[in-house]
Amino acid sequence: MDNKTTLKKKITVLFALIMLAVMLIAFFFVYFVSRSGLDRNISSLLVTTVEENLQEIDIEDEYDEDEKQLKAGDKYIEFDDDFSFNSNEVSLALYSVKGKSAKLFSGTDINRDFNISLSFKDGDVRTVSTDGVRYFVYDANVIDGYWLRGVIPDASEQMMFSTAMRTFLIAFPIIFLFGVVVTYLMLSRSLAPVEDIAGMAREIGMSNDLKRRVDVKADSREIEELADAFNGMLQRLENSFDVQRQFISDASHELRTPMSVILAQCEYLLEDGADPEDYPDGLEVIRRQSTVMSGLISDILELSRIKNNSDRYKRERIDLSELLRDACQDYSKIREKNISLEYEIEDGVFIEGDRGLISSMAGNLVMNAYRYGKENGYIHVGLAKSGDTALVYVKDDGIGIDKKHQKKIFDRFYQVDRYANSRGSGLGLSMVKDIVSWHSGSIEVVSEPGMGSVFTVKLPISH
Ligand code: ADP
Repeated sequence: MDNKTTLKKKITVLFALIMLAVMLIAFFFVYFVSRSGLDRNISSLLVTTVEENLQEIDIEDEYDEDEKQLKAGDKYIEFDDDFSFNSNEVSLALYSVKGKSAKLFSGTDINRDFNISLSFKDGDVRTVSTDGVRYFVYDANVIDGYWLRGVIPDASEQMMFSTAMRTFLIAFPIIFLFGVVVTYLMLSRSLAPVEDIAGMAREIGMSNDLKRRVDVKADSREIEELADAFNGMLQRLENSFDVQRQFISDASHELRTPMSVILAQCEYLLEDGADPEDYPDGLEVIRRQSTVMSGLISDILELSRIKNNSDRYKRERIDLSELLRDACQDYSKIREKNISLEYEIEDGVFIEGDRGLISSMAGNLVMNAYRYGKENGYIHVGLAKSGDTALVYVKDDGIGIDKKHQKKIFDRFYQVDRYANSRGSGLGLSMVKDIVSWHSGSIEVVSEPGMGSVFTVKLPISH
């Protein structure tokens, strides 16, 4: 983990690279645009200077000693007063050219190397580089064999060292460094809460104290959301650990009772002088308690499977009408306490879910109705469609449930009258509740002590 670069460094480097690229692009853009503009200006300055000076040259047939004249073949080249070999930074020179060879005739030779060797050509601005300097060259023909050449050095090198350019070159690294430092500092400040969260998470992990929460003062929404999400996760973890702890403690408590009865019976039967005639009764007690334990254990297993969303349950389209009708036909044969079971099932109600779980849900509700029903009582099971919801209800005229117990009966191991009901585990309704929520539904009870209860399950319909 330590050899990985921090986010801060990564973003700063990225920012530095982007800044560098933008500045270089800006620099080259400015450089080339101004350079091409400058080239154009220099070219036209060169052409006008040469052409203007050409106007100041006359060709005479006769020699005039009052004028500045040079003999060129059988003619005289006469320079007027306004002629200058050095005007507007353009250096002018007159060359006599014979075939391929050229000779300086008058003026300053800026650079012998190319001035002589570069062929003379009328009307074109050319560039020549020599000794690392670029020159613009323009020739004008004076008379046959005589050429006026203007040369001006490229000014872009000068431009490079102009004040503006120098300022730019000095400012560039300063802006760059400033940008990088400011970015790094801002990132350090913004990401400090993330480091705080990581530190707190590590501390919470080490102390195993899920009650603690991350307390971060962040000025950015993302970090606040991260802290909230982290706290939310801690809360859910704490809740699920609490539920699990409670479940384990309840389950061991529930198992301890039948276990102690079995142990006591075994000890009694193994005692010296125990009456063999008591053996069948004792074994019967052991068998009964073992049945309770085994029921409890399979209920616990079933519950934990539903809770853990085990893959063993499928979500498929189920004909709920058909499933309930078949189940009710079977349940109606129970006839416990001479209770009669009737059902009213609407046809064609489909849901998305697990057949086994839905059967188990219906079975639990109906078996409770029998268990807590009156002698010669009745049970009504119904299925109806209401909009997008399937309503399953199980109604009995049994002992009913007091208001104060109604909320708790869906809790694990909760029994209203533990002693009157030695067959139950108190897990049935909590299992029903889990099955219903696995199917994205809800369950409620309406009950009146002494009058009976109605359990209504709402499940989303599959179209
Ligand atoms: P169990 O039936 O195994 O005790 P349940 O979770 O199924 O556990 O039910 C919890 C408690 O709710 C029961 O102990 C009982 O007191 C009460 N109860 C459930 N169904 C009914 C009913 N139809 N009529 C009256 N009381 C009921």
